[in-house]
Amino acid sequence: MKHNNQVFDNVLDLVGNTPLIKLNRITSNFEGDFYAKVESFNPGNSSKDRIALYIIEEAERRGVLKPGDTIIETTSGNTGFSIAMVSIIKGYDCILAVSSKASADKIDMLKTMGAKVYVCPAHVKADDPRSYYQVAKRLHEDMKGSVYINQYFNQLNTDAHYNSTGPEIWKQTEGKITHLVACSGTGGTISGTAKYLKEQNPNIKIIGVDAFGSVLKKYHETREFDEKEIYPYRIEGLGKNLIPTATDFDVIDEFVKVTDEESAHTAREIAKTEGMFVGYTSGAATQALKQLGEEGRFKKGDKVVVIYPDHGSRYMGKVYSDKWMNDQGFFDSVNAEASQSIQY
Ligand code: PMP
Repeated sequence: MKHNNQVFDNVLDLVGNTPLIKLNRITSNFEGDFYAKVESFNPGNSSKDRIALYIIEEAERRGVLKPGDTIIETTSGNTGFSIAMVSIIKGYDCILAVSSKASADKIDMLKTMGAKVYVCPAHVKADDPRSYYQVAKRLHEDMKGSVYINQYFNQLNTDAHYNSTGPEIWKQTEGKITHLVACSGTGGTISGTAKYLKEQNPNIKIIGVDAFGSVLKKYHETREFDEKEIYPYRIEGLGKNLIPTATDFDVIDEFVKVTDEESAHTAREIAKTEGMFVGYTSGAATQALKQLGEEGRFKKGDKVVVIYPDHGSRYMGKVYSDKWMNDQGFFDSVNAEASQSIQY
């Protein structure tokens, strides 16, 4: 039941309809108007609430899920949190197979949200029976009535954004959006949103953001999987070492690559200039936007929307820790503004 006066039946009624907030300072050197779609306003603090709710409700509509059934996924990140949240409200069990690389904080957070967490060894190949992919697959196969979200290879991930993020942005910009800048991990956000927007106006430019160390940009340009593109990097949720089928490369016009270091500094700059405390990939997306701006790619009258996928609170031990920044060497080239605390 929908209520008036901002009273809701449960947190799930608050998924989606996130605000579009004008960027006033960080883009002030460039022509055009810039807006952030701030996904941390979702109740689970990220865009992944949309896909968790959509995929689970689609399984219900198809009669696959019954009360007491189990939802399975391989993630310690935002998707895990969102699935756990939806599972609690709807009365499902939630099993998350995570890598032993995941931080203790993350595992505690998921357990707090009622998830059963299987910690699987990080340094085994994806086809090893102990890997989190194989553990999740096995649990799903053995458990009747379970749903495996499998976000990288699930078209419903993309459909969730086609049905919500895309229409919201179109309405919020009154159809005047000229560019969309969005990070690509599973590719669900950018592909679903872009598909909807391009159906309304095929001239809208869709720009994907990729990490150095990921294959997505090269694959987009050549349609070939180039293993040489793959090496470790720090930003989580952006780029990939495989080609997800949830990504529709045809609706993306181009990819821009960003570095770990510049993305980290830009994330901190968003907090200091716009007063928004957002995640590492929001820094990455804004870094891409700056690179395009510096190339003179925007003109007066353009309306550019950049997606901010999650909240800064999930990165306290990383981008927002001076120690972590120092340990990565990210303060070496900057005039060590390590925002030291002042001791009285
Ligand atoms: N940012 C963060 C923090 C994420 O967790 C993800 C999802 N992996 C993305 C960006 C990218 O979104 P998508 O998977 O829809 O491409």
